[in-house]
Amino acid sequence: MAPANVYLDHAATTPVDPRVLAAMLPYFSETYGNPSSVHAYGQRAEAALESAREQVSRVLGCRPAEVIFTASGSESDNLALRGAAFAERERRGADTILVSAVEHPAVLKTARQLQQQFGFRLVVLPVDACGLVSPADLAEHLSPQVAVVSILYANNEIGTIHPIAMLAAQCRDLGVVFHTDAVQAASQLPVDVGELGVDLLAMGAHKFYGPKGVGALYVRNGIGLLPWLTGGGQEQGRRPGTHNVPLAVGLAEALALTAAERQSRNAHQQRLRDRIISAVEQTVDGARLTGHPSERLPNHASFVFPDVDGNALLAALDARGFACSSGSACKSGTPEPSETLLALGLPRRLALGSLRVTVGKDTDPQAVERFLDILPPVVAALRRPAAGGK
Ligand SMILES: *Cc1c(COP(=O)(O)O)cnc(C)c1O
Repeated sequence: MAPANVYLDHAATTPVDPRVLAAMLPYFSETYGNPSSVHAYGQRAEAALESAREQVSRVLGCRPAEVIFTASGSESDNLALRGAAFAERERRGADTILVSAVEHPAVLKTARQLQQQFGFRLVVLPVDACGLVSPADLAEHLSPQVAVVSILYANNEIGTIHPIAMLAAQCRDLGVVFHTDAVQAASQLPVDVGELGVDLLAMGAHKFYGPKGVGALYVRNGIGLLPWLTGGGQEQGRRPGTHNVPLAVGLAEALALTAAERQSRNAHQQRLRDRIISAVEQTVDGARLTGHPSERLPNHASFVFPDVDGNALLAALDARGFACSSGSACKSGTPEPSETLLALGLPRRLALGSLRVTVGKDTDPQAVERFLDILPPVVAALRRPAAGGK
């Protein structure tokens, strides 16, 4: 019997919505001009690109000129952090970078490289057991020496949501540039940059039913950014390279649909998430929810199980047709426990047995029930690999 495949890994990526694909298709082979060209072909492509930019700016509540298209969420994070760090150091000698301990590697490794190779000072702010930075801790480290602060909006591994408006306000009071990685959050949470009060905000389309390989960065008017790619004058000279019109169109369409359908998607996802959390807590021995009990993404359930190997668990679930993750996809295969889980203060023994279950807008409740039926025996079997009796 072939296992029915059930995808429960929407934090890793999502399928492209057919409506998004349809919006993109004309821009591959019909309206294929280079938006920088002066002729009609170029003008038609430019019109599509600028209309995509406007669509994004409407969701963000900003001006179109404050939206930059990039090639991924990771690139948006890199441009934000590198761009602001170098610009602020040049402008006013600020040389310190503050990031949370639970940032995605696109931020954390960038910050470490800026420290190790480029002479910046780096302060990594610790988080509590739920994965939250303390506002008091941030206040303590804020000073005019700080060039840029980066705290992620919602965590990809544990689903915890930061109170970004409050943290950004602390930075704004001191004139310190604030970046938030909203790559995971944008699939479910409001991203109105006025309400959030951020200077920089990164997104990636493939996390919200758009195509892979395209991202966007909001840059508040007046914020200086040193470009980290050099070349043509595209994106106001901040991100050179011939525009990828179909992907920009796809990102914009996917973001607009996400905003329009947010409430119904989230209601569906949250019901499934709550069902998963309560069932797993009741039926799997020693199961512990990771991340925040209430301030978490509506589609996100994550756990640790004592004395279970997370990778073996993923393989066993995959063999039964269920696609889940343990922590960050970039780390699967590595026996090291996730840095994020360790930052919560979890012991190695627990951090190595993590499971992330992330549902999507089209996840079938019956498939979730089948998953919840097989999970407890699968975990139990992995716990006693040497007993042989089970
Ligand atoms: C997925 C993700 C990224 C990276 O985005 P890509 O578009 O895959 O490069 C960065 N930050 C967070 C929080 C993510 O979930």
